[in-house]
Amino acid sequence: MKLIRQGLPAILLGFAGAAPSPAAPPRPTLVVAISVDQLSADLFAQYRSSFRGGFARLATGVVFPSAYHAHAATETCPGHATLLTGMFPAHSGIIGNDWYDLDAPRADKRIYCVEDERAPGSSSRRYSVSLAHLRVPVLGDRMKQADPATRVYAVAGKDRGATTMGGHQADQSWWWRDGGFVSYAGRASHGVVDGVNAKLPQDIPSAALRSRVTLDEATLDVAAGFVERDGLGRGKATDLLAVSLSVTDYVGHSHGTGGPEMRDQLVALDAALGRFFERLDATGVTYAVMLSADHGGHDTPERDRERGIPEAARIAPDLNVAALNAALGGARIMGTIGSDLYFPDKTLIPAARDWLLRQPQVAAVFDAATLAATPIPKSAPPESWSLAERAAASFDPERSGDLMVLLKPHVIPLAKPPLTTHGSPWDYDRRVPLLFWWRGIDGFEQPGSILTVDIAPTIAGLIGLKVAPDAMDGRCRDLLPGPESSCP
Ligand code: ZN
Repeated sequence: MKLIRQGLPAILLGFAGAAPSPAAPPRPTLVVAISVDQLSADLFAQYRSSFRGGFARLATGVVFPSAYHAHAATETCPGHATLLTGMFPAHSGIIGNDWYDLDAPRADKRIYCVEDERAPGSSSRRYSVSLAHLRVPVLGDRMKQADPATRVYAVAGKDRGATTMGGHQADQSWWWRDGGFVSYAGRASHGVVDGVNAKLPQDIPSAALRSRVTLDEATLDVAAGFVERDGLGRGKATDLLAVSLSVTDYVGHSHGTGGPEMRDQLVALDAALGRFFERLDATGVTYAVMLSADHGGHDTPERDRERGIPEAARIAPDLNVAALNAALGGARIMGTIGSDLYFPDKTLIPAARDWLLRQPQVAAVFDAATLAATPIPKSAPPESWSLAERAAASFDPERSGDLMVLLKPHVIPLAKPPLTTHGSPWDYDRRVPLLFWWRGIDGFEQPGSILTVDIAPTIAGLIGLKVAPDAMDGRCRDLLPGPESSCP
């Protein structure tokens, strides 16, 4: 009986002619690009089965559980700059959250990735925000170039998230700072932002708010408000809304990823994303969502040691730039061990390299000439890249250090428990989930690895934006499971 019932539709279809091929998706009029700061592929896998809200909806779409930030310096600014430019940090110019310019005409030689160095009195700590360091266009810039009617909006918990995803010509770009959402100097206020700022809880200190899901909820409140009030997705051209949610990162840094704090954050964020999508549904706009992360992360070394990773450790107390400078007789090297080192006196580079290679926690030391000569293996699976290749994808000849120092796996360059951090060339920091969803999507899961530089060309394909084949480091990935293709 059961068999007959199951057989019937096929017979009927047979009489009606060939089975209809699934329709290509209606072209979205709004692209919603979301970054969840520090959402590693490992965390997504760990909590995937318990999601009921926004993450669960996205998981019914196209799922790439192993997307790679292929570069070595897995920090927030380079990661966000990679997501929508389709370019490695080596080409976007955003090689880290900070770098050093020994020739900078100021006492503070450290440069923040989205500071405006030209502003009088700017330093890496007190700066006005600018995207001047980003050397390439962002997806929104390309969309506007193709059709000036396109609107590009961005909102984030961090300035480096909103600016690098929104791009050079974003109509609206807002980030949270000291108690409210702010924008570039001189920008007019926006009613949606004013409304959300007025609703922010006044009883939570500013510094504490950023570690609570409240900040992610406020960020999503601004984003949904933009769609509702300004009619994103209802104009003459495809619009782009970029959102970066920062709280997962703050929770990870403060508590690690393996405890109840991260569980509570992801459960709350899943629910908040669900409510956000319901608000977008209510507008009736045909939207497509991309969600990924700027980098991965991992647990504290203390808890990792108790959970099967005996080599997990904090950096040795005598492995730091001060100790290196002392060992070289009072040198003035700047930077960080675990990242780039800058030498005012280049003659000290060989001795410094010898000292570094004697340290048991150091995995590799590369000089600038080596990285400049190392090709980035775009077409090789990112999990197979050598350390030099990962470092080369983070190398900019003008901004990178004289030496790049990489620590061994599970060595955390922070001394104080329970603090932890990302930024390493190891896969727990490189690997992030990548999800695409739109209403009616014929979803599938592709376990093979993909590069995060593929995101921008993939979205371009989905919305019919023409991009020259060599204009980005990544390539378009087909999001339609049948013979049709979402790529040109
Ligand atoms: Zn980050």
